[in-house]
Amino acid sequence: MKNRLILPALILGTFLLILYFAYPLKGFQADSRINDFLPDSLTNKDESDMETINLSEEEWKKRLTPEQYQVLREKGTERPFAGLYWDNHEKGTYKCAACKSELFSSDTKFDSGCGWPSFSDVSSSSAIELRKDSSFGMIRFEVICKKCGSHLGHVFDDGPEPTHLRYCINSASLHFKKEEKKP
Ligand SMILES: [Zn+2]
Repeated sequence: MKNRLILPALILGTFLLILYFAYPLKGFQADSRINDFLPDSLTNKDESDMETINLSEEEWKKRLTPEQYQVLREKGTERPFAGLYWDNHEKGTYKCAACKSELFSSDTKFDSGCGWPSFSDVSSSSAIELRKDSSFGMIRFEVICKKCGSHLGHVFDDGPEPTHLRYCINSASLHFKKEEKKP
Protein backbone atom coordinates (compact mmCIF):
# COMPACT_ATOMS: atom_id res chain seq x y z
CA MET A 1 0.00 0.00 0.00
CA LYS A 2 2.76 2.40 1.01
CA ASN A 3 4.77 1.69 -2.14
CA ARG A 4 1.78 2.47 -4.31
CA LEU A 5 1.49 5.94 -2.82
CA ILE A 6 5.13 6.95 -3.24
CA LEU A 7 5.03 7.44 -7.03
CA PRO A 8 1.88 9.64 -7.15
CA ALA A 9 3.22 11.63 -4.18
CA LEU A 10 6.53 12.20 -5.97
CA ILE A 11 4.77 13.27 -9.17
CA LEU A 12 2.50 15.65 -7.28
CA GLY A 13 5.47 17.06 -5.31
CA THR A 14 7.50 17.65 -8.48
CA PHE A 15 4.51 19.28 -10.16
CA LEU A 16 4.00 21.65 -7.22
CA LEU A 17 7.71 22.52 -7.15
CA ILE A 18 7.66 23.33 -10.88
CA LEU A 19 4.57 25.51 -10.40
CA TYR A 20 6.19 27.31 -7.48
CA PHE A 21 9.35 28.20 -9.40
CA ALA A 22 7.91 28.70 -12.88
CA TYR A 23 5.05 31.02 -12.02
CA PRO A 24 7.09 34.06 -10.90
CA LEU A 25 9.39 33.73 -13.92
CA LYS A 26 6.54 34.57 -16.26
CA GLY A 27 6.96 38.29 -15.75
CA PHE A 28 5.43 38.58 -12.33
CA GLN A 29 8.69 38.72 -10.44
CA ALA A 30 9.49 42.43 -10.67
CA ASP A 31 5.89 43.23 -10.02
CA SER A 32 5.58 41.33 -6.75
CA ARG A 33 9.04 42.43 -5.65
CA ILE A 34 8.28 46.12 -5.90
CA ASN A 35 4.92 45.54 -4.22
CA ASP A 36 6.81 44.32 -1.15
CA PHE A 37 8.60 47.64 -0.90
CA LEU A 38 5.65 49.93 -1.43
CA PRO A 39 3.70 51.10 1.59
CA ASP A 40 0.16 49.67 1.67
CA SER A 41 -1.24 53.16 1.64
CA LEU A 42 0.13 53.66 -1.87
CA THR A 43 -0.89 50.41 -3.49
CA ASN A 44 -4.29 50.10 -1.83
CA LYS A 45 -6.22 52.92 -3.33
CA ASP A 46 -7.87 54.38 -0.29
CA GLU A 47 -10.32 57.09 -1.11
CA SER A 48 -9.03 59.77 1.21
CA ASP A 49 -10.84 63.04 1.65
CA MET A 50 -8.26 65.01 -0.33
CA GLU A 51 -9.91 67.49 -2.65
CA THR A 52 -9.21 66.80 -6.30
CA ILE A 53 -8.97 69.10 -9.28
CA ASN A 54 -10.72 68.20 -12.50
CA LEU A 55 -9.93 70.46 -15.41
CA SER A 56 -10.51 69.88 -19.10
CA GLU A 57 -7.43 69.26 -21.22
CA GLU A 58 -8.10 72.64 -22.85
CA GLU A 59 -7.84 74.30 -19.44
CA TRP A 60 -4.61 72.47 -18.65
CA LYS A 61 -3.18 73.54 -22.00
CA LYS A 62 -3.83 77.17 -21.08
CA ARG A 63 -2.28 76.84 -17.63
CA LEU A 64 0.86 74.86 -18.49
CA THR A 65 3.84 75.40 -20.75
CA PRO A 66 3.96 73.04 -23.77
CA GLU A 67 6.74 71.02 -22.08
CA GLN A 68 4.82 70.75 -18.80
CA TYR A 69 1.66 69.77 -20.67
CA GLN A 70 3.46 67.06 -22.60
CA VAL A 71 4.92 65.49 -19.44
CA LEU A 72 2.10 66.06 -16.95
CA ARG A 73 -0.94 65.44 -19.15
CA GLU A 74 0.44 63.22 -21.93
CA LYS A 75 2.77 61.12 -19.73
CA GLY A 76 5.88 62.33 -21.50
CA THR A 77 9.44 62.01 -20.21
CA GLU A 78 11.94 64.84 -20.36
CA ARG A 79 15.49 64.19 -21.51
CA PRO A 80 17.84 63.10 -18.69
CA PHE A 81 20.28 65.68 -17.30
CA ALA A 82 18.25 68.38 -19.04
CA GLY A 83 15.56 69.34 -16.54
CA LEU A 84 15.61 72.17 -14.04
CA TYR A 85 16.00 70.17 -10.86
CA TRP A 86 18.01 66.97 -11.37
CA ASP A 87 21.10 68.77 -9.98
CA ASN A 88 19.31 71.11 -7.57
CA HIS A 89 20.74 70.81 -4.06
CA GLU A 90 18.87 73.68 -2.42
CA LYS A 91 16.65 73.09 0.60
CA GLY A 92 12.94 73.38 0.06
CA THR A 93 9.82 71.61 -1.09
CA TYR A 94 8.86 70.24 -4.48
CA LYS A 95 5.24 70.79 -5.49
CA CYS A 96 3.18 69.54 -8.40
CA ALA A 97 3.74 71.96 -11.30
CA ALA A 98 0.09 71.63 -12.28
CA CYS A 99 -1.79 72.04 -8.99
CA LYS A 100 0.92 73.05 -6.46
CA SER A 101 0.15 70.13 -4.17
CA GLU A 102 3.19 69.41 -1.96
CA LEU A 103 4.89 66.20 -3.11
CA PHE A 104 8.53 65.88 -2.05
CA SER A 105 11.00 67.45 0.36
CA SER A 106 14.64 68.22 -0.45
CA ASP A 107 15.47 66.11 2.64
CA THR A 108 14.66 62.93 0.68
CA LYS A 109 16.29 64.01 -2.60
CA PHE A 110 19.42 62.08 -3.53
CA ASP A 111 21.89 61.85 -6.42
CA SER A 112 20.86 58.71 -8.25
CA GLY A 113 22.93 59.44 -11.36
CA CYS A 114 19.92 58.82 -13.61
CA GLY A 115 19.53 62.44 -14.73
CA TRP A 116 16.09 63.06 -13.22
CA PRO A 117 15.25 64.39 -9.76
CA SER A 118 15.20 61.35 -7.46
CA PHE A 119 13.56 61.04 -4.07
CA SER A 120 13.54 58.22 -1.56
CA ASP A 121 10.15 59.14 -0.15
CA VAL A 122 7.08 61.32 -0.61
CA SER A 123 6.09 64.14 1.73
CA SER A 124 2.79 62.41 2.38
CA SER A 125 1.53 59.12 0.98
CA SER A 126 -1.86 60.74 0.42
CA ALA A 127 -0.30 63.19 -2.08
CA ILE A 128 0.34 60.61 -4.77
CA GLU A 129 -1.20 57.56 -6.36
CA LEU A 130 0.62 54.68 -8.03
CA ARG A 131 -0.62 52.94 -11.13
CA LYS A 132 0.84 49.86 -12.73
CA ASP A 133 2.36 50.76 -16.10
CA SER A 134 3.12 47.94 -18.56
CA SER A 135 4.24 50.15 -21.46
CA PHE A 136 7.53 49.50 -23.33
CA GLY A 137 7.51 45.85 -22.26
CA MET A 138 8.34 46.71 -18.66
CA ILE A 139 6.30 46.52 -15.51
CA ARG A 140 6.73 49.79 -13.67
CA PHE A 141 4.73 51.90 -11.29
CA GLU A 142 3.65 55.27 -12.56
CA VAL A 143 3.56 58.09 -9.99
CA ILE A 144 0.53 60.34 -10.30
CA CYS A 145 -0.42 63.49 -8.40
CA LYS A 146 -3.47 62.51 -6.40
CA LYS A 147 -4.93 65.99 -6.39
CA CYS A 148 -4.95 66.67 -10.12
CA GLY A 149 -4.25 63.29 -11.73
CA SER A 150 -1.13 64.51 -13.54
CA HIS A 151 1.76 62.22 -14.48
CA LEU A 152 4.90 62.81 -12.40
CA GLY A 153 7.28 59.93 -13.19
CA HIS A 154 7.90 56.36 -12.01
CA VAL A 155 8.98 54.64 -8.80
CA PHE A 156 11.61 51.89 -8.65
CA ASP A 157 12.83 49.65 -5.83
CA ASP A 158 16.55 50.42 -6.12
CA GLY A 159 16.62 53.48 -3.87
CA PRO A 160 18.60 54.05 -0.68
CA GLU A 161 17.69 53.02 2.86
CA PRO A 162 15.37 53.06 4.67
CA THR A 163 12.65 52.98 1.97
CA HIS A 164 14.71 51.37 -0.85
CA LEU A 165 12.54 53.41 -3.22
CA ARG A 166 13.60 55.75 -6.00
CA TYR A 167 10.91 58.13 -7.11
CA CYS A 168 12.22 59.17 -10.53
CA ILE A 169 10.34 62.38 -11.28
CA ASN A 170 10.40 64.77 -14.25
CA SER A 171 11.57 68.32 -13.44
CA ALA A 172 8.78 69.54 -15.72
CA SER A 173 6.25 68.02 -13.31
CA LEU A 174 7.70 69.88 -10.35
CA HIS A 175 7.69 73.38 -8.96
CA PHE A 176 10.44 74.02 -6.41
CA LYS A 177 9.76 76.30 -3.47
CA LYS A 178 13.01 77.27 -1.79
CA GLU A 179 13.04 77.16 2.01
CA GLU A 180 12.96 80.64 3.44
CA LYS A 181 15.88 81.41 5.72
CA LYS A 182 14.82 82.20 9.24
CA PRO A 183 15.98 85.65 10.34
ZN1 LIG B 1 -1.07 67.99 -9.10
